[in-house]
Amino acid sequence: MSDSGTPIGVLPDLGVVPESMIAQVVRSERMGDPREAFAIETIPVPVPGPNDVLIAVMAAGINYNNVWAAKGLPIDVIKIRQKAGDPRDYHVGGSDASGIVWATGDQVTRFSVGDEVVVHHGVWGLTDPWIEAGNDPMTAPTSQIWGYQTNDGSFAQFSLASEHQLMPKARHLTWEEAAAPTLVGTTAYRMLHGWQGNTVRDGDVVLVWGGSGGLGTQAIQLATVAGAKVVAVVSSDERGDYCKQLGAVGYVNRTLFSHWGVPPHWADSEGQREWTGSARAFGKAVWEALGERRNPNIVFEHPGEDTIPTSVFVCENGGMVVICAGTTGYTAVVDLRYHWTRQKRLQGSHGTNDQQAYAYNELVAEGKIDPCLGRVGRFEEIGQIHHEMDEGKLPSGNTSVLVGAPTPGLGRK
Ligand code: NAP
Repeated sequence: MSDSGTPIGVLPDLGVVPESMIAQVVRSERMGDPREAFAIETIPVPVPGPNDVLIAVMAAGINYNNVWAAKGLPIDVIKIRQKAGDPRDYHVGGSDASGIVWATGDQVTRFSVGDEVVVHHGVWGLTDPWIEAGNDPMTAPTSQIWGYQTNDGSFAQFSLASEHQLMPKARHLTWEEAAAPTLVGTTAYRMLHGWQGNTVRDGDVVLVWGGSGGLGTQAIQLATVAGAKVVAVVSSDERGDYCKQLGAVGYVNRTLFSHWGVPPHWADSEGQREWTGSARAFGKAVWEALGERRNPNIVFEHPGEDTIPTSVFVCENGGMVVICAGTTGYTAVVDLRYHWTRQKRLQGSHGTNDQQAYAYNELVAEGKIDPCLGRVGRFEEIGQIHHEMDEGKLPSGNTSVLVGAPTPGLGRK
């Protein structure tokens, strides 16, 4: 196989597709610590199918999903793809990209070579009967997360996406800024706007866990743009101040409380009394941060096991706890007494559909949502950066790495 000959930070002539490329590759036998799981290899450039677009990746966003892919938890994405017929024994992850359209399949009509784009992470079978029947594509049996469940993600010089995933890159952003927020932003958009009956409304109170993290930064801004009052939950005052700069009216420092995880059994009256006391104190801290005695209409969840009992407890009657992850664990206990008598909704949410992603991207293009780029790394650092993400050591906001862009600061029009 001939090498692309183009190092990281350099592009071939526009539209010239090499046979091979440099990629950060995960293999099953290396899975574990992301620092070892990722390694730089030369692999073939993927070939677009009729509805696909080949993108020269300028910058790639870092997301938690490739911490999971590198660890092989809770699934080995390579083995699952192999079972489904993909012969490749490696994973090229990366679910956020900014880049340039380099080649298109023959059914592609909306984009052409040279267009500057970002990519959303919702993928599904284009002829899936569930979707053709008018259902939400992200609930279809064929739905997947691009650059996690699928191969050919953005941690490579070239990446493959389906045309419907592409969106125009915001002109005022650099490559690394544009690559940073789409996965978390579109996920947050679906969580806040996607669940009829409990979509975010002007004047609502929204509680956002991990307010200074990837999802949190986007949720704070999206809820604020919709007219809601946001209280963020964080682990330090510094992070709380950062959330206030993004629009949160206040924050709660979760390290002042200790009732996290699975609560005592309901028959353990003493344990329950203690747990409820601490959960009430947390609810009071939310009121104080808000400046009024109102409970959250929406609780924006992703930590999971540690926090769900509290989220359900503090949520307003008829309100919604909406969750897209279980970062701290999956055994989330719900005290059904609060759930049914107060008619709260516990809603799972995953990925994005096209409409939600396009609506989010418009807000970014209009400058209403900031990507909150906290760090720009080098392509070689992808394993290290995922390790730091796993350790909770990345700076507030989102992180991206340069791929085709030679230096930070380029790409703004
Ligand atoms: P992130 O940038 O690392 O932020 C996570 C935040 O969670 C941290 O800032 C941390 O803030 C907070 N946190 C950590 N441990 C906590 C605990 N024990 N209790 C409460 N809060 C805790 O990650 P992210 O990008 O926001 O992603 C978060 C999760 O969502 C990941 O598991 C990711 O895979 C998932 N996700 C799912 C989807 C989907 O489509 N389903 C999309 C995006 C992300 P403090 O320490 O300041 O509290």
